[in-house]
Amino acid sequence: MSDCLFCKIIDGKISATITYRDEDVLAFKDIGPKAPLHELVIPLRHMSSLAEAKPEDAALLGKLMIVASQQARAAGFAERGFRVVMNAGPDAGQTVHHVHLHVLAGRELGWPPG
Ligand code: AMP
Ligand code: ZN
Repeated sequence: MSDCLFCKIIDGKISATITYRDEDVLAFKDIGPKAPLHELVIPLRHMSSLAEAKPEDAALLGKLMIVASQQARAAGFAERGFRVVMNAGPDAGQTVHHVHLHVLAGRELGWPPG
């Protein structure tokens, strides 16, 4: 999608600190980190929201979780703990309409989330 911020990062039109890329998924550092580790994991294929997810998206969405786990482990947080969050829609605070998983770690994370 030409007007999508994260599609522009995928296409290299907007710079980001890329931490992982394969044929399906990109991970990069969040520009406004909310924890010492804060990465975003996104599908290369544009999907606007988890609310639009279909059964045929299961493998791709599952892969986001696997990459999130790998990124947390690579940063040294597999044992101490980390959190993955996906905001969908306005009440959840989704601001970028390209599916993304937040990976947060490196401090105690409050529960329940705000
Ligand atoms: P959400 O509120 O769940 O839609 O999360 C969007 C996230 O994208 C926020 O945590 C932002 O800090 C992050 N973000 C926005 N623009 C950029 C950018 N250019 N590079 C990296 N992260 C960004
Ligand atoms: Zn997009």
